Amino acid sequence: MRKLVFACIWTLVFSLAAAAQTRPAATNAPRVMVIRAGTLIDGASDAPHANQVIIIRGNRIEKVGGASTEIPAGATVIDLSNATVLPGLIDAHTHIFLQGEDPDEGGYDIQLLKYPLAYRTARAIVAARRALEQGFTTLRDLETEGAGYGDIGVKRAIDEGIIPGPRMFVVTRAISTTGGYSLDDYAPEITVPKGAQIADGPWELRKAAREQLDHGADWLKVYMTHRSWVDRDGNLVSQPTLTVDELRAVVDETHGWGKKVACHSYNGIGMQRALDGGCDSIEHGLELTDANIAQMVRQGTWYCPTLSVYYYWWSPANTPDGQRDRKRAAVHGPSFQKALKAGVKIVFGTDMGGMPWTDPIAQEFEKMIELGMPPMDAIRSATSRSSEMLDQKGEIGVVAPGAYADVIAVSGDPLKNISVLKDVKFVMKDGSVFKNELR
Ligand SMILES: [Zn+2]
Repeated sequence: MRKLVFACIWTLVFSLAAAAQTRPAATNAPRVMVIRAGTLIDGASDAPHANQVIIIRGNRIEKVGGASTEIPAGATVIDLSNATVLPGLIDAHTHIFLQGEDPDEGGYDIQLLKYPLAYRTARAIVAARRALEQGFTTLRDLETEGAGYGDIGVKRAIDEGIIPGPRMFVVTRAISTTGGYSLDDYAPEITVPKGAQIADGPWELRKAAREQLDHGADWLKVYMTHRSWVDRDGNLVSQPTLTVDELRAVVDETHGWGKKVACHSYNGIGMQRALDGGCDSIEHGLELTDANIAQMVRQGTWYCPTLSVYYYWWSPANTPDGQRDRKRAAVHGPSFQKALKAGVKIVFGTDMGGMPWTDPIAQEFEKMIELGMPPMDAIRSATSRSSEMLDQKGEIGVVAPGAYADVIAVSGDPLKNISVLKDVKFVMKDGSVFKNELR
């Protein structure tokens, strides 16, 4: 009897499997969409192209051609012929687990001391959605700031289609040394949480790197400077953290896993150690000497300046913190200009989360252009340049055959008025339309 039941079940299973196999192939064929672009800035070329047709099959771009390109039968046509079409943008420095650090709301510390992880995660999900709404289809999210491996979970939920959000490259906890990261200035008798994983000595640091890589970090983030202040001569001084040997342990381990290391570094001793230790990207780089810049060019180090955030939350001018805040912004612009002139590889990054997610991410473009970067290069810094840094060349940051179908559109010409990028009207990620206000 039992044998007969098994036989019946097996017959049923095999006949279902056979039915599935004989299903006509057409029903499984990927959806074809066509975008008619009035102007296309493809993320890589020096000049825009007029009246382009972009053919998208499934989640990839199949073809880009002129207006006479044949439209495949049955394709859904999206008319963006009055708009400028670009690749989905990439912000290479964000913190979805931070929400602006407004001192009036308790600044950074309240995030770690008073907010449950679930609450912070809920807000991180909103931040990720905000980025996508603004046309940023990829983020390199540079640390959860005390929220552990929360970024791995958010990334997974996005990848599985549970929540909307950009493609995420995440670093998890970040790394610094004792005395090298917030929370600071609490009574020594009480133990407060730290926003990064603290380790000392090459082996401890290597172990921290291994842990983070083991748990799924796409990049590692290291703090090479921490506190900063203005000295009696009016110079910006930054406290260094890891030694060169300590940093080399992290970089060696991470490179062994085929991944890269982003280094928060302002200036001075910490900056020199960051470059000598082999960091792949310098974050902020407030004050770069000519020698720093020459070394970055020689080593091919990426520069992610994050200009806008240093104009937020200034303390009163007559306080030490206020002097530091003004000095940081004052030295940053000239460093950017020198790096630009020397041909340092510059990527677009904002430090969103350090400023509120309700503010426009694209404000950073305005700062870059004010400092002399040509608008097309500013756009490329947030598209093909960033994709190169992320080892995603040809996959993202470009509207070209073979790339993922991450496509955005704006009204007007961003090469004449970069501010139109603050108002992205159309967003497609991975071949799915997330937003279209141009209908
Ligand atoms: Zn940051």
